[in-house]
Amino acid sequence: ALASGRERGAVRLVAVSKTQPLSKVGAVLATGHRLFGENRVQEAEAKWPILRQNFPGIELHLIGPLQTNKVRQAVALFDAIGTTDRPGLAHAGADERGRPGRRPRCFTQVNPGEDPKKAAIFPAEADSFIDHCRSTLGLPIEGLMCIPPVDEPPAPHFALLAEMARRHGLPCLSMGMSADFELAVRMGATHVRIGTAIFG
Ligand SMILES: *Cc1c(COP(=O)(O)O)cnc(C)c1O
Repeated sequence: ALASGRERGAVRLVAVSKTQPLSKVGAVLATGHRLFGENRVQEAEAKWPILRQNFPGIELHLIGPLQTNKVRQAVALFDAIGTTDRPGLAHAGADERGRPGRRPRCFTQVNPGEDPKKAAIFPAEADSFIDHCRSTLGLPIEGLMCIPPVDEPPAPHFALLAEMARRHGLPCLSMGMSADFELAVRMGATHVRIGTAIFG
């Protein structure tokens, strides 16, 4: 962050603990780190409620695709839902949030490479979707998330995401993984999602 002319602490590290055994997750918790990302609701439910009892201050982000029938569980477990990416899911999320209890933050996942094999909303539809979530459904979208196509340079995709966030006045940008987080930080990431570089 400092090398990019940004403030110390401007970028948060999401330790991606999907598929990792409790022993490895425990080792990272023992360093004091508290912000983690998981891809699957069921896997996270098996791991985190117990860990939460033993390590106060844990913040958990869902960074994988979310099925509409898992929204209730996801809202109950996660502090942020990173993949609010389609109208049905946004509606279900808004309904769940109407119930008393937890109110996770939301990121919209954008598919900047328009890869049809991947989830996430295409850029052409994202502007109206974000407006709909915020003004009609009252979902507090705080930021955008993306995974650039693996076989292309990530910079143009990060730039597209950053520009879209600026346009909507969204403060958070979740972009950058083990292979490209330095570039993502230079381009404005506020959250980098790192798995392999931490856990091997
Ligand atoms: C697995 C995963 C990561 C971490 O990727 P690494 O290359 O292991 O750092 C980040 N974001 C998402 C959405 C992931 O599924």
